[in-house]
Amino acid sequence: MAPQNILNADLHCHSVVSDGTLTPEALAERAKANGVELWALTDHDEIGGQQRAAEAARANGLHYLTGTEISVTFAGETVHIVGLGFDANDPAMHQGLHNTRGGREQRAQEMAQSLAGVGIQGAFEGALKFVGNPELISRTHFARFLVETGVCRDTSEVFRKYLTEGKPGYVPHRWANLRDAVQWITQAKGVAVIAHPGRYKFTPNEEFALFTEFKAHGGQAVEVVTGSHTVQEYVKYAETAKEFGLAASRGSDFHSPDESHTDLGNLPFLPGGLTPVWELIADRIQ
Ligand code: AMP
Ligand code: MN
Ligand code: MN
Ligand code: MN
Repeated sequence: MAPQNILNADLHCHSVVSDGTLTPEALAERAKANGVELWALTDHDEIGGQQRAAEAARANGLHYLTGTEISVTFAGETVHIVGLGFDANDPAMHQGLHNTRGGREQRAQEMAQSLAGVGIQGAFEGALKFVGNPELISRTHFARFLVETGVCRDTSEVFRKYLTEGKPGYVPHRWANLRDAVQWITQAKGVAVIAHPGRYKFTPNEEFALFTEFKAHGGQAVEVVTGSHTVQEYVKYAETAKEFGLAASRGSDFHSPDESHTDLGNLPFLPGGLTPVWELIADRIQ
């Protein structure tokens, strides 16, 4: 593999096992075609695709790290914590993710009721048609239903008009604790990473508290280069990584050829002067 920062690593994407539209096998082929050298599949709250992804990586000559993206509630907001390089057979990790997935079906029923209140009928059944994993019905599946039925032109319009705080179809949900999520990952010998920090609507004080508590619980890295960040945010979070002594990660957050604006591997390299997260878990690369 290429050394240090000059590595086409894509350590954040989704398959049909959560809210992506491609199988782990199709993602591995696409990653290879796009020049990715080190890959991780990071389905939301789920590691059921890890064995398939690792095997597909091997078949395509990609280096692989295990991955997941855990939904956490912090300061009243949803924060995502990526885990990389953990033991995918760790029982506490399995139980923690299983508990985090619980409640999604009930929430989806309530989302459908809320949408019915503004005249959109059959959203639960409609969203289910897009679901690949019955334990993982997500807002993305509702967004696809609203596009299919012509209510919105694309999924970003859905999230502007529906499914977000204050809009029809939004149902607040209590996810995992920050501390638990970080500990499931680290106790399974992985590294915890704050996903796309630029996406959260935190005040500077709240953001400082997130990084401080994350680090205190054993978190070791932050996504600097992600499909969710602007160029200015690459610079900002490179500084934050240095300030907090965190390693840096890189990932597209690819979900679908039809929806994602950043394709697998199609990102700038990590800025210099940072420790790439894969250096911390070099011994866990498959
Ligand atoms: P959930 O875990 O059910 O709350 O769904 C969260 C998922 O919705 C995220 O992982 C994204 O895939 C998707 N999502 C959230 N906000 C947006 C947005 N503004 N545009 C497109 N997709 C979004
Ligand atoms: Mn998603
Ligand atoms: Mn996320
Ligand atoms: Mn993601």
